[in-house]
Amino acid sequence: MAERRTTKKTSRQNAVLVIGGAGYIGAHVVRALLQAGRRVVVLDNLSEGYRDSLTAIERAERRSVPLVKGDLGDPRTLRKLFAAHRFDAVMHFAALCYVGVSVKEPAAYYRNNAGHTSVLLDEMHRAEIGRLVFSSTCAVYGNPVKVPMPEDHPFAPINPYGHSKRMVEEMLVDLDKANQMRFVALRYFNASGASADAVIGERHDPETHLIPLCLAAAYGHIPELQVFGDDYPTPDGTCVRDYIHVEDLASAHVLALDWLARNDASTFCNVGTGRGQSVKQVIETVERVSKRRVPHRIVPRRVGDPPELVAAAGSIQQKLGWRPRYTSLESIVETADRWYRKMFLKTSVHL
Ligand code: UDP
Repeated sequence: MAERRTTKKTSRQNAVLVIGGAGYIGAHVVRALLQAGRRVVVLDNLSEGYRDSLTAIERAERRSVPLVKGDLGDPRTLRKLFAAHRFDAVMHFAALCYVGVSVKEPAAYYRNNAGHTSVLLDEMHRAEIGRLVFSSTCAVYGNPVKVPMPEDHPFAPINPYGHSKRMVEEMLVDLDKANQMRFVALRYFNASGASADAVIGERHDPETHLIPLCLAAAYGHIPELQVFGDDYPTPDGTCVRDYIHVEDLASAHVLALDWLARNDASTFCNVGTGRGQSVKQVIETVERVSKRRVPHRIVPRRVGDPPELVAAAGSIQQKLGWRPRYTSLESIVETADRWYRKMFLKTSVHL
């Protein structure tokens, strides 16, 4: 896609609509937007998100965050919202995001992630809102043909989750060509950790993600962690992922918004650190940080898991001027551990 620079300036900043803003990543982005001085309205159906995350943010930031409870796939809700507010841009986090479940329930993933997003794009077009920051994923690449994976890596998703996100990326390219939308699609690697002050953090129900499950096993809330396969073609046989701190991910969204305001163009960016860690390394790190053993057992591979996903992270640094603040897995796990203890052990947090 050609990137067209423009000197056009926005006269004043309107609100940003954050769809899925009560969820794990969305809530961190809401907070980062407030800290950057932006006004935010959240649309969330609260199927995965938590109203109390927004309340915690409001308390910490002393700012209000209006929440509209509703579905992104419901055109009436979107029309009402677009009539009631002026939005500079939309950020869209409201997706089903479990690789394993997507393999078992593909239709739900296509309906929610691709179908509902097409409704959003159509309604944005009707309302003449032409800027979107879209939550995409490294799962659009599938099995790596080169590591680290650049943004022009071939697209061959190996699970419906990745397919559904790639479908949206293709829709966005067409809308860009039709001059209806400029977008930044951020391809997340593995979002992890919690806010440094433990105000918000990762909560999924049921939890399926590696770091919270390691902590649950360490603190005796589950009997053991199941390690999905140790026969991958990786140095220690377990899957390798690029764990990126959720606050660093959030700052990438604020920069993406600024980039859209400066450029009449669209782009795709990986958001990762460029550093891969195996499941075994994550277990060791959680043991070091929590000072507890993580009981675990090797079980068969989980369908849909590529062996290694590590970002080529140069493009986002050049284009958006983004730099991760959390540069070690240990510093990421420390925030996850602090949040876990506050949430589930109710211990006080000393910062
Ligand atoms: N994983 C694991 N046991 C678990 C959960 C995850 O071994 O109970 C592995 C999984 O196979 C993957 C890595 O941990 O290689 C990260 O998985 P997660 O579900 O956290 O994120 P994903 O990579 O699916 O987005």
